[in-house]
Amino acid sequence: MLKTHTCGELRAEHVGQEVTLAGWVNRRRDHGGLIFIDLRDREGIAQVVANPEVSAEVHATASQVRGEYVLRVSGQVRRRPEGLENPDMATGQIEVVANSVEILNPAETPPFYINRDDEEVDEALRLRYRYLDLRRGRMQRNLILRHKVVKFIRDYLDERSFVEIETPILIKSTPEGARDYVVPSRVHPGKFYALPQSPQQIKQLLMVAGFEKYFQIARCFRDEDLRADRQTEFTQLDVEMSFVDAEDVLKLTEGLFTALVESLSAETGMSILRQPFPRLSYQEALERYGSDKPDLRFGLPLIALSDVVAESEFRVFRQAVAEGRQVKALCVPGCADYSRRRLDELGEFVKKRGAKGLVWMVVEAGPSVRSPVAKFMSQAEIEGILARTEAEEGDLILIVADEPKVVAEALGGLRLEMGQRLGLRDDSVLAFAWVLDFPLLEWHEEEARWNAMHHPFTSALDEDLPFLETEPGKVRAKAYDIVCNGWEIGGGSIRIHRREMQERMFRALGLSKENVQAEFGHLLEAFEYGAPPHGGIAPGIDRLVMLLAGEHNIREVMAFPKTQQAMDLTFGAPSSISERQLAELHLLLVDDEP
Ligand code: ASP
Repeated sequence: MLKTHTCGELRAEHVGQEVTLAGWVNRRRDHGGLIFIDLRDREGIAQVVANPEVSAEVHATASQVRGEYVLRVSGQVRRRPEGLENPDMATGQIEVVANSVEILNPAETPPFYINRDDEEVDEALRLRYRYLDLRRGRMQRNLILRHKVVKFIRDYLDERSFVEIETPILIKSTPEGARDYVVPSRVHPGKFYALPQSPQQIKQLLMVAGFEKYFQIARCFRDEDLRADRQTEFTQLDVEMSFVDAEDVLKLTEGLFTALVESLSAETGMSILRQPFPRLSYQEALERYGSDKPDLRFGLPLIALSDVVAESEFRVFRQAVAEGRQVKALCVPGCADYSRRRLDELGEFVKKRGAKGLVWMVVEAGPSVRSPVAKFMSQAEIEGILARTEAEEGDLILIVADEPKVVAEALGGLRLEMGQRLGLRDDSVLAFAWVLDFPLLEWHEEEARWNAMHHPFTSALDEDLPFLETEPGKVRAKAYDIVCNGWEIGGGSIRIHRREMQERMFRALGLSKENVQAEFGHLLEAFEYGAPPHGGIAPGIDRLVMLLAGEHNIREVMAFPKTQQAMDLTFGAPSSISERQLAELHLLLVDDEP
């Protein structure tokens, strides 16, 4: 090794020792006579002193170095002079008096400060110079945390007899509801591989193969529009088990997450809000929070008012109820002092989410209400609203009347916004919960057919199965999502494991026999050779680490993520390829006219 110690490990107990360090110049200060260099490596920072009286040569070299130069320094550890200790630094008691400084490599001035964690830097610049961005303390901590999370998961599952099995990246379409990335085949003109959207079918085949308990830290690829929680490629903890019911999968996952958060709590400062994780049905989640991934760090539920205002003199409410739409409210404590302008802003907020408007009611002494629509309402009706929302003086009631979907989107969004404004979204708390009983199918307007809500391999609740052909929308799935702080962390299901049932499901999805054979023939065939009942789940590693790191974007916990436009700015991908490559891949359109 070029070094005897790491910069971060030196303490008072090392005083008197000769050490050799290597790392990057975090900062250099020239105090006329003495030059101080803060030398940084992954473990921390040590102060190096170059004293011309100790060595003129060392001092001369030290005076040349700049930020991010790579140095190797030898010298003696000594206690810092009285009064010059730095209690904010782990190595703040000591310094290294250099008797040799070697420049291993100089460095250009970086495009942004490496040594300032809190500095806001344009993300495109960070991604362009990701190798410098990753040198920063925050990113080092995030990626090391990610390593620990993955290591913990591997150990935990290994102790419970799970086997990690790698599955191919070049494969055939594995639908999870997104577009596929495809790779042209050179050997087979006009044919393509698809990158797995998840290893879903492969892990099911591994169950047929008798592995019983499988997991993989699996890379998944989906060509979809990117957001804070979405990337073209991302990592799942992919799990599948044989001879289990949903309860077994829930228990395993909950045990794993609980142990994981506890084992890392000293460094993350995170704790789990409620244990066991609360469970709610998909229907309940939508009704109470307007979302199938509710943020349960706080209450502020959506309150149904349709029955209270069905006979309202206020036409907007009465008509909404009569025509099968919904009237729902939020009762926000302590916001009665909102100005007209701020109320208008909230109105704009819900309009952006598709609502036609927002009705507000300020709750005053009495309690009575002040609202532009109060004059259209009877006293009994207002009392009904106050009673239902349990509003008190000082509260602000916000009401939306619209299609259920719009109400969920608009009021659910407003709930998060008000939770944020009221400081109820504490980032050091993890509110895990299970969402259960998802619908098996959802109606796809544009394609005018039913789509699998989870994926087509999910089984139906036994008692709902008879309705698969007659009332498909009514059938619930043996599917579950784990959510945390408003993010979907993962989902899974108990699968179909019999050929006839899988074929019946494909029929319900409107797939032709030929299509089914071409796309899923391998799976159907496998089911004929003794497929065990099985189920599983796939939590997203990126989202999980993001929450544990207190970040709000998965790019902050990925080493080389892509931009919102799916570009890798460090490498400049995607990029063009040569005509020769295109020709080899049979992608060159050759004009064969003479
Ligand atoms: N393959 C599913 C997904 O990626 C997870 C699962 O059902 O296990 O969402």
